[in-house]
Amino acid sequence: MELGYKRKNVWFETDMAEKKAVFEYGERYRKFISKAKTERLAVTEILSRAKEAGFKPLEEALRGEIKPGDKLYLNHKNKSAVLFVMGRNLEDGMNIVGAHLDAPRLDVKPLPLYEDGNMALMKTHYYGGVKTYQWVCTPLALHGVYTNADGETVHINVGENPDDPVLYITDLLIHLSKDQMQKKLAEGITGEQLNAVIGQCSFGADKESKHPVKDNLLGILNRKYGMTERDFLTAEFELVPAGPARDVGLDRAMIAGHGHDDRVCSYAGLEAILNLSNPERTAVGLFVDKEEVGSMGNTGMEGAFFDHALAEILAKTPGDVFLRLGRCYQGTRVLSADVTNGHDPSFPEVDDPLNGSKIGHGVSLSKYTGSRGKSGCNDANAEFIGGLGRLFDAHGVVWQTSELGKVDQGGGGTIAYILANKGAEVVDCGTPMLSMHAPTELVAKADAYMTYKAYRCFLEN
Ligand code: MN
Ligand code: MN
Repeated sequence: MELGYKRKNVWFETDMAEKKAVFEYGERYRKFISKAKTERLAVTEILSRAKEAGFKPLEEALRGEIKPGDKLYLNHKNKSAVLFVMGRNLEDGMNIVGAHLDAPRLDVKPLPLYEDGNMALMKTHYYGGVKTYQWVCTPLALHGVYTNADGETVHINVGENPDDPVLYITDLLIHLSKDQMQKKLAEGITGEQLNAVIGQCSFGADKESKHPVKDNLLGILNRKYGMTERDFLTAEFELVPAGPARDVGLDRAMIAGHGHDDRVCSYAGLEAILNLSNPERTAVGLFVDKEEVGSMGNTGMEGAFFDHALAEILAKTPGDVFLRLGRCYQGTRVLSADVTNGHDPSFPEVDDPLNGSKIGHGVSLSKYTGSRGKSGCNDANAEFIGGLGRLFDAHGVVWQTSELGKVDQGGGGTIAYILANKGAEVVDCGTPMLSMHAPTELVAKADAYMTYKAYRCFLEN
């Protein structure tokens, strides 16, 4: 019997066949995040794969009988999605893998366009926790929707194709940065300085106009997308780093991409549930919006849409829905599928080296998150996570535990507490990563793969 504990290394636990599986999984995930650049695009990708795998719309299923083994999906306002594989009796509880689809980014302000310095610019308002200085001097893609005069939703995606133009936010040249370089990192680039250059040409415009470049640009927007300036007032546009995710390292063992937080866990949950058939307990893949701004709103986890969907399903069979929904939650187990911090060798001072997650050591279990005295966390129960550890060991999942930095260094939260408040057993379980919330983040393929493997055996059992 092993008396001590040593964190396992994925690569030392892996044979040739599994090494191949790690890299193949990494390639499928890399393609997924290269397309799923926003929460809306992620929902599109998830549902197209679910439909291919035989999932049917929940609202359609509610008109008939819902049977064990049925595969159902809910598209909630094109920003959140739920996949169900029905078990024997929903009232017994569910196995849920719950991830979020939104990621920190720059949103476009309602009245964004102006002209200055003979350029047209677009004002932004950052979404989620960002370091503003990270968003300058890098090619940016524009994604989003507006509704036109006929009430139709028009989609705009510019900057992902290598031939597409991109947007760009400037920074001050080093030659004149004497004052800027004395500022704190948080103030070197302010939120109001995150103005993206969107045009420079005024060919053919009225020379008397105060903003000929903007005039020309409005013409382009109108010809290409049928837009007027007024349409921006009610639009949802986001700026994200342009282009696909890339393999990192000469061994191709890592991936740099936008939105690993939390699309790396979303994708693991997606693959895990797509491959599932006839589970004993109802399996649920939750993909929610708004986690990065506190899970509020009707597309976030605090929203009522998931409870409503469960109530609709429970109402198909006899008995009080309220009581049965409560019983269902009491019997429910949840992996709050969200990323955690991996030890960064360039910033060792923020970690407890014994308790921080390490890259390449597998999926990470965080008993608690929160800040200061674990404030705001649900602190998972030992009986629940003890069982999980044994399940992961039995299925060859390489896993570790994590604590987000040193005590009193900072902290964070996830959707875990929301489902725990309803009575479910919930623990944070996700991929350790580096440069979290940066425009382009870093994960290891070994950890992404082990995250999938963990979710898979959790949903099956
Ligand atoms: Mn997250
Ligand atoms: Mn986050």
